[in-house]
Amino acid sequence: MADVVVVGTGLIGTSCALALRASGFTGRIAGIGRSRANLDAARARGAIDRGYAFEERWASELVGARTVLVAVPIAQNRSVFAALAPALDAASVIIDAGSTKQEVIAAARATLGAHLARFVPSHPVAGSERSGAEAANAGLYVGRQVIVTPLPETDPEALRAAGEFWTACGARIASLDAARHDRIFAAVSHLPHLLAFLLVDEIASRADSAEYLANAGGGFRDFTRIAASSPEMWRDIALANRDALQSEIAVFRQALDALALSISHGDGTAIEALLERAAKVRRTWGESGVGATEGVPAI
Ligand code: NAD
Repeated sequence: MADVVVVGTGLIGTSCALALRASGFTGRIAGIGRSRANLDAARARGAIDRGYAFEERWASELVGARTVLVAVPIAQNRSVFAALAPALDAASVIIDAGSTKQEVIAAARATLGAHLARFVPSHPVAGSERSGAEAANAGLYVGRQVIVTPLPETDPEALRAAGEFWTACGARIASLDAARHDRIFAAVSHLPHLLAFLLVDEIASRADSAEYLANAGGGFRDFTRIAASSPEMWRDIALANRDALQSEIAVFRQALDALALSISHGDGTAIEALLERAAKVRRTWGESGVGATEGVPAI
């Protein structure tokens, strides 16, 4: 019988457990996971009291649990919800952490049954290119935003409890419609991540890539840091948010074509005007502090 059950003791799940501990939470935290290494690392770091591999007998830990946090790659949510559902306590609040929301909500609708009203879809806008419990950090959520995308049937008390959970982790809560969330994050997170992967892969696929990489500097390093992120996580995000992502790819392709045209025409005025506009927005946004926390990159 745990107070909090974390399913998926990787970067996000273990960081939540560490953040709760840091906030003074003294209840029992159980972890359930796919990888024994992550469970052991989460336990060694004091994040969880006990860790269970998914095929072990963990159902009794759910009895009386206040919060069940599911922090697994998007494509795993459906099977995880389905396995949890028969053992869930009616009073538990179920929270996910997925970077896309409509797909996770569809998985919850298909599997959670009467527990759906206690499910609060959440996206912590905090993370890193590192994965796993070893990379977890108690301060990951401090001052960062968690976006909740409640359903019409979400129990207001569950929403309030989920808000308290994330606030205890140090985060601020914001609310968005799930489709709007997915559209916005396709543009400001999913496309940029995929572009970073794509750029690194394209250069690495050249016969003389070693020479290119040996000469790459800070700009390449800054632009491609996120290309070291988890391939499984980003594959799942790309597929789960495919419609919004395809729209953003089309918009970006047009913008790239327009820039290529300006370059081929030698149109310095158009190029400079574009760069001026972007630099102004980026400097103002950077100074606003949004998306920035010491040492913790925004996702
Ligand atoms: P991670 O790879 O660090 O951790 C995922 C954990 O889930 C691992 O411990 C893995 O063993 C476990 N897992 C995978 N399949 C499982 C299954 N079927 N049953 C039980 N455990 C399983 O990934 P993460 O960065 O912690 O991401 C988790 C979720 O959080 C993803 O949905 C991701 O979209 C979301 N998210 C990630 C970030 C980020 O920057 N990393 C930010 C916001 C949201």
